Amino acid sequence: MKSKVYFTSARAKIWDVKYSLPLKLEELLNKIDLKKYISGKDKVAVKIHFGSLGAFRTIRPVFVKKVTDAIKRIGGKPFVTDTTRIESLQYLDIAAENGFTHLTCGAPVIMADGVFGRDGIPVKVEDAKYIKEIEVASAIYYADAMVVLSHFKGHIQAGFGGAIKNIGMGGVNPKTREGKSNRGKLHSVDDKVPKWIKEKCSWCKQCEEVCPVSAITIIPKEIYEIKEDVCWRCGRCARICKKGALDMPIAQERLATHIVEASKAVLSTFKPNKVIFINFLMEIQPECDCMPIADTPVVNDQGIMISDDPVAIDKASLDIINKATPLPQSAAEDLGIKSPCDVLGVINRKDTELILNIAEEYKLGTKNYEIIEVRRRDDTNEEENWE
Ligand code: SF4
Ligand code: SF4
Repeated sequence: MKSKVYFTSARAKIWDVKYSLPLKLEELLNKIDLKKYISGKDKVAVKIHFGSLGAFRTIRPVFVKKVTDAIKRIGGKPFVTDTTRIESLQYLDIAAENGFTHLTCGAPVIMADGVFGRDGIPVKVEDAKYIKEIEVASAIYYADAMVVLSHFKGHIQAGFGGAIKNIGMGGVNPKTREGKSNRGKLHSVDDKVPKWIKEKCSWCKQCEEVCPVSAITIIPKEIYEIKEDVCWRCGRCARICKKGALDMPIAQERLATHIVEASKAVLSTFKPNKVIFINFLMEIQPECDCMPIADTPVVNDQGIMISDDPVAIDKASLDIINKATPLPQSAAEDLGIKSPCDVLGVINRKDTELILNIAEEYKLGTKNYEIIEVRRRDDTNEEENWE
């Protein structure tokens, strides 16, 4: 059975607002028929990534509001939410700076795991190889339905970030109430903190600055310490270290399996047919929105996809990006990539199919999909000349 992925292109050739991308998103939401997933009075988590200080290429609030408006039209009660990545009150400030407020999103903007990032409910993962239990952020756990909005882009560890990663990493709290590692279990093997390699270190202190919980203390040329009990195992320090002096002890296959197992935990908290996924293939930059920067896009904006299958939508998103011509003045040009290819995988030196294959094994969905292109916003059946 093929999963349906509805798609609308980012191209806009007709000078009429109904062909603008925000209004095309409305049409996509009509096509998928939200009423099949959301009932009146359902409390609906609209899961998003708020971005970081400096990572501004997040989903624009105008699209978030189209989603919350559509939910409200059928009687649902949406709230826009993410889990703690840096200290929550600061993260909410950054969310506002990146444009996500109650006013702009048309719904309350809240932390799914509370002010301290420790508000989660333990969930067992059936047939898991590694993550047999993980806490799911409480506001997601208790929500009746969820709409997952994912900014599709590259990722240094996973190759790309889309729907699966958004729920797996993004649906769980960093620490438990007792202060034990929760999301950190996903980023490392056996809950280890990053390993410091003294010979490579230039004592630049960038890792200390980027750590969200001040777990690193450096006194140049003398002391380098990571406090194990404080560290969230988020891997930010290892990612930004230009000298390769910090090693997050995990291989891609293991990380991908962890993410899939956590995604399975998050999805298991919903009844069937209560979660849908919207991927925004726009400002497709090489790295995650967690980083303290956003680089120029590596391919042009492609459009928006919507599906109830996280595997199908991520596979369809990758496929369309892989057919696009890489852009000059981007990380693609830096690597001499000129022709269409698995550009996010090549840039991040990762196998982008791996997580999809694992997600299929765990029955999160299928890579087998059919694209239904939504080209117009009115409801007549007449052909429209798009040129
Ligand atoms: S960022 Fe890397 S090189 Fe700089 S102090 Fe940290 S470990 Fe050393
Ligand atoms: S992994 Fe690194 S950046 Fe993340 S909390 Fe631990 S020390 Fe800080």
